[in-house]
Amino acid sequence: MNGWGGGGASTPGSAGWPVGSGGVDGRTGGWWCGGPARETGGGRVRIVVVGAGIVGAATAYELVRAGAETVLVDAAREGRATSAGAGIICPWTGRDEEPLPTAGAGHYPRLLAALAEDGQGDVGHRGVGALLLLPPDPDEAARTIARVTARAAADPHAGEVTTVDATEARRLFPALAPASGSTESSGGPIPSGGPMPSGGPMPSGGPMPSGGRAPAGGAASSDGAASSGGMASSGGAAPAGGGGFTGRALHISGAARLDGRRMCAALVAAAERYGLRTVRGTARIETRGGRVRGVRVDGEPLAADAVVAAAGAWSPALLEPVGVRVPVVPQRGQIAHLRLPGADTTHWPVVLPGTGHYLLTFDDSRVVAGATREEGTGFDHRVTAQGLAEVLNQALAVAPGLASATLVETRVGFRPAAPDGQPLLGTVPEPAGLVVANGLGPAGLTAGPYAGAVAAALALGREPGLDLSPYDPLRDAVRTTRTT
Ligand SMILES: Cc1cc2nc3c(=O)[nH]c(=O)nc-3n(C[C@H](O)[C@H](O)[C@H](O)COP(=O)(O)OP(=O)(O)OC[C@H]3O[C@@H](n4cnc5c(N)ncnc54)[C@H](O)[C@@H]3O)c2cc1C
Repeated sequence: MNGWGGGGASTPGSAGWPVGSGGVDGRTGGWWCGGPARETGGGRVRIVVVGAGIVGAATAYELVRAGAETVLVDAAREGRATSAGAGIICPWTGRDEEPLPTAGAGHYPRLLAALAEDGQGDVGHRGVGALLLLPPDPDEAARTIARVTARAAADPHAGEVTTVDATEARRLFPALAPASGSTESSGGPIPSGGPMPSGGPMPSGGPMPSGGRAPAGGAASSDGAASSGGMASSGGAAPAGGGGFTGRALHISGAARLDGRRMCAALVAAAERYGLRTVRGTARIETRGGRVRGVRVDGEPLAADAVVAAAGAWSPALLEPVGVRVPVVPQRGQIAHLRLPGADTTHWPVVLPGTGHYLLTFDDSRVVAGATREEGTGFDHRVTAQGLAEVLNQALAVAPGLASATLVETRVGFRPAAPDGQPLLGTVPEPAGLVVANGLGPAGLTAGPYAGAVAAALALGREPGLDLSPYDPLRDAVRTTRTT
């Protein structure tokens, strides 16, 4: 077993971990699930977190901050969702309330402050706001405005919601207009801010469907932004055409974007300062007498009082051997990263056209165009011609100013998706000592750190602070819904 985290500094007391001891001893057993967390000889409880995506990394961070001896195990699977995720944090546009993502967005300010205190000041999070492009139908647009405004009014983290015209939308996100003279040979820099001249070429091709069936929750759902009721609700037509965006949009000032890779690395690095130990390898959960006894990592035993299963789309393989059947499936997402040479994209907002696709930027002239939502692909970790065509065509249909951008990278990730679209977060009757933290689907970068805090509380035998019954890992809806 090799560590993979980084420094891996141990705090006093973390030495002498019972790696290889083959299970917890009688002193530490029995405290779990309902009973108070019992301290080990070193004054700390021992917990293994399986999976170092955003959920597992956040869980581990919360655990070590609470003083628990913690080991984070990761198998470095290709297609980790956190590494591919777009990073939109905007849970206020959905038709339905989404308590966990909403709580997740509200959790971020506290988390960012805590990480800054722990030496992780720049984690790739920026409050850039979002533009929800409104449907052309006035009645539908009015309904969307009313719904989003009401949702935002109930949550101070959503910030201000204002209606903006096309000129303002293009000023905020210049690529919504065609780049002047944008051809392969003359793609000049796009200025930061300020409207751009129109008259560029038509984007090639229109929106294309990806393989697999439409996701639960509506075809207009965007990663991190739920079902928006924007353009797609009026037929999913390409909103811009060759002349660029000409409609109205809602600007949601509290929306943000996050670099999932940087956040995850920051959580682990901060946790290591508290003594987190990281181990690379594939974990198997060990049980005896109806409770967890730890894990085996590539055959080597690692004893623990509690195990948090945060293995993303791979959770069924982790949990099935201990009798816990969770019908989570991998939902493949292909997402393209473009570069607009010379453009200062630092403060461009997230763009939500309501088609289920979206655009967002990072600081290095990078524009991210996402994403496919494909089911039935298994763990097939390839960029496909159709997937890439879909995301690029959708992006260009909304933002013709991207026509001359450089394609720098395409990422593929597997969203852990439950059949009813709800997370799986909680304990199970047996084995005792097991916490399931999974199924965050398209909203895991939004809800993941909060879900991690809840999972950590459960692993410590503490009150999680919210009603978890809708997220019961063994709820009827999740067991009886057919999955592909
Ligand atoms: C294209 C795309 C775009 C997205 N955009 C957004 C967005 O804009 N906003 C948003 O909120 N969310 C978004 N998401 C969703 C978000 O990325 C996921 O919900 C979230 O990252 C899931 O995190 P996780 O920790 O549960 O799983 P993962 O990140 O997949 O991590 C699971 C980890 O478990 C490890 N593992 C598995 N089995 C084992 C084992 N037996 N032993 C040890 N380790 C194991 C794997 O190696 C992996 O590292 C997007 C997802 C994709 C794919």
